[in-house]
Amino acid sequence: MMTGEQYIESIRSMKMHIFCLGEELETAVGHPILQPALNSVKMTYDLAQETEYRKLMTAISSLTGRTINRFTNLHQNCSDLVDKVKMQRVLGQKTASCFQRCVGMDAMNAVFSTTYDIDRKYGTDYHEQFKKFMIYCQDKDLTVDGAMTDPKGDRSLPPHLQTDPDLYLRVVKRRSDGVIVRGAKVHQTGICNSHEVLVMPTISLGEKDRDYAISFAVPTDTEGITMIIGRQSCDTRKLECSCQDVGNCKYGGVEALTIFNDVFVPNERIFMNGETKYAGLLVERFAGYHRQSYGGCKVGVGDVLIGAAALAAESNGVAKAYHIKDKLIEMTHLNETLYACGIACSCEGHPTPSGIYEIDTLLANVCKQNVTRYPYEIARLSQDIAGGLMVTAPSEKDCQNHATGPLINKYLAASSSFSTTNRLKIFRLIENLTMGTAAVGYLTESMHGAGSPQAQRIMISRQGSLEKKKGYVKSILDIE
Ligand code: SF4
Ligand code: FE
Repeated sequence: MMTGEQYIESIRSMKMHIFCLGEELETAVGHPILQPALNSVKMTYDLAQETEYRKLMTAISSLTGRTINRFTNLHQNCSDLVDKVKMQRVLGQKTASCFQRCVGMDAMNAVFSTTYDIDRKYGTDYHEQFKKFMIYCQDKDLTVDGAMTDPKGDRSLPPHLQTDPDLYLRVVKRRSDGVIVRGAKVHQTGICNSHEVLVMPTISLGEKDRDYAISFAVPTDTEGITMIIGRQSCDTRKLECSCQDVGNCKYGGVEALTIFNDVFVPNERIFMNGETKYAGLLVERFAGYHRQSYGGCKVGVGDVLIGAAALAAESNGVAKAYHIKDKLIEMTHLNETLYACGIACSCEGHPTPSGIYEIDTLLANVCKQNVTRYPYEIARLSQDIAGGLMVTAPSEKDCQNHATGPLINKYLAASSSFSTTNRLKIFRLIENLTMGTAAVGYLTESMHGAGSPQAQRIMISRQGSLEKKKGYVKSILDIE
């Protein structure tokens, strides 16, 4: 396995095409806006080296018998699924941000089981090819970006009827040695920090959408791939060299609009090519795993926010007030409810025909549906507890200015157990998590990541077994 430093160097050595704030970058490494996101991924490597976390952060490969980072694991049983969620909670606690590496892990598991099913139906050899790719990722300890979401254009039209056929990623040319693909993937979490990108279709597809039923993996610095970094609220504070004002200057997340402009994919890296019937299954499996993921990562970030709210209350001298204690209880209750769903859908997992395990779909969708709501309430309560200074406090530079610094120290002092600087740092972290750069990961991603709320409601309605439930009533009441 790679160390954190080796991971950073491996990303530095790649030649990706990254644009950020109108400029092309040579590398994400060292860029003030992007380095915190790299630090979050680096944590997935660092913790795997620490004795205390080694058991949680690693697994034994089912393909090679070698020790691997759990982020490249294929889940062999329910306990693997549970450990995945526990690992994500720990990483959320350590980074207070999106650590990006889970999308690839979820994509790997979804593609592994689906290629097995496709081969059984059509006699293709995608599964063996995918196994080779998996062994490569496990042995090299790679970070893989899972790329699902297409721009989707006019949502009322299927891919082949779009005015611009590139609004869904598609095969534009078939050659004897591979295919040429064109299109884009939006909201690509962590792609500029990933070694490989594993592409999947974004929706169920019909026969006429054959060219869109494509799954493959290529290195992220492949010719034709361009990443345009998404803006985050308050991102330019990271350019001001003011750690205090950023709130969390060590860690962050990143998303990018990623263009595939006539990218060549060799045959051995193709894992679906025209099998439209399996596009929907692949999407469902990936979404299920990622909805489970949120029952871990968002809970870990929630732990940090609850801690920050408790410290803010102490620094204000109100920690003993009954309503503050009650709000912290409510935040904990909501956060642990999310965790309970993440653990439950893992414990209730089952094997797929390929042998690897997937989560209980209904419970994973309930998990994610709760995630679209509870972090917002936890954020609201943290802002309630913190008070207005969270958004009106002067800048770090004013704190350091000889004329204003002493005034800020004097007039923004509260509990004598906290320096004014530490008090402001805590407020800024709450601002960061609920309104700043980290709100992308903690709030908006909670809403739309792994599918928007309605996508879960559709799954819940399909899995809710209403007929069975009516049957219970009929049998109790002797109704035919
Ligand atoms: Fe992982 Fe959560 Fe980020 Fe998704 S949102 S990549 S599950 S940390
Ligand atoms: Fe996500």
